[in-house]
Amino acid sequence: MYRGFQLDRATPDKHCPVCHAECSERYINPGYTQIICPICGKFSAGDMAVYFITSLNDQKDNISYKLSHFFRSLSERAFGKSDSSLFPIYSHEDLKRVLNTPDPSVREKLLMLLQYIASLSNYPGQIVGLQPANDYPVLCAKNRAETDFYIQALGKDGMILVGKTEGGEPNCTITTRGWQELEKAEQSGADSPNGFIAMWFDPTQNPMRDAIKSAIIAAGYQPIRIDEVEHTNKIDDEILAKIRQSRFLVADFTGQRHGVYFEAGFMLGLGRTVIWICSKSDFADVHFDTRQYNTIVYENTDELKTRLQFRIEAILGKGPIPT
Ligand SMILES: [Zn+2]
Repeated sequence: MYRGFQLDRATPDKHCPVCHAECSERYINPGYTQIICPICGKFSAGDMAVYFITSLNDQKDNISYKLSHFFRSLSERAFGKSDSSLFPIYSHEDLKRVLNTPDPSVREKLLMLLQYIASLSNYPGQIVGLQPANDYPVLCAKNRAETDFYIQALGKDGMILVGKTEGGEPNCTITTRGWQELEKAEQSGADSPNGFIAMWFDPTQNPMRDAIKSAIIAAGYQPIRIDEVEHTNKIDDEILAKIRQSRFLVADFTGQRHGVYFEAGFMLGLGRTVIWICSKSDFADVHFDTRQYNTIVYENTDELKTRLQFRIEAILGKGPIPT
């Protein structure tokens, strides 16, 4: 029913509806649009979501950089640049939630930039090039100028050495101090004993919820789940805070709830572990191809509990809480 709105402005050009950059790919499918943007990375949005994005562009205060950041951090951290198989289809409700997320602090932005440079470095000492005009969403900056500011700041703090390419773009090398800072940041996340559960909130799912909880406890971690009746901003803030405090997230895609895709995406954006699970009967309906992410496809709760516990221990090691 929303296609009439969506097609007016979206179809004729190959521009990204979020940032207006020229896209390398833009596909219109029944019900959603799929985009590969040099700035926002790869994403899919439902028709209503595309309409919602377009309506944002008409507002005076540009807040779409938050969407660029959300989409781009998924592309960068979760899937690797060459991988185009994972395209969750975001709804306009998901996007509203992204827009309600507070901006990262300056300290967090500096760390995100440092982590991004590290992800481009194949070895310590390598000189890597940055493209601030395209890369600003990586650290949730509003534009190139803000990104340049943080590049210089990392240089002044002794985290990177900053140079220039012949084309005038910045290039940089992470210093020993920078690598030590990255290690410290990684270890602080590793201290959390929490495992967040993202799943369908429905009474039919209670046996699965209990199995997931037992698996997390058996692996030595503290299960965190927020029982919710409906989404309000207040609950969203609480969910995001709890996810931030967790070391990993278990995402059960059974029931195809948008909230689960959103919470998994948020955790991936933080650069932490997401363990993907789904009931066998629902797996064919999953919105994207998760096969390469080694999803635990379960047939019953016993199997779920055992496999999930082993998966957590294999990825993260035994947790700090005695079982
Ligand atoms: Zn874009």
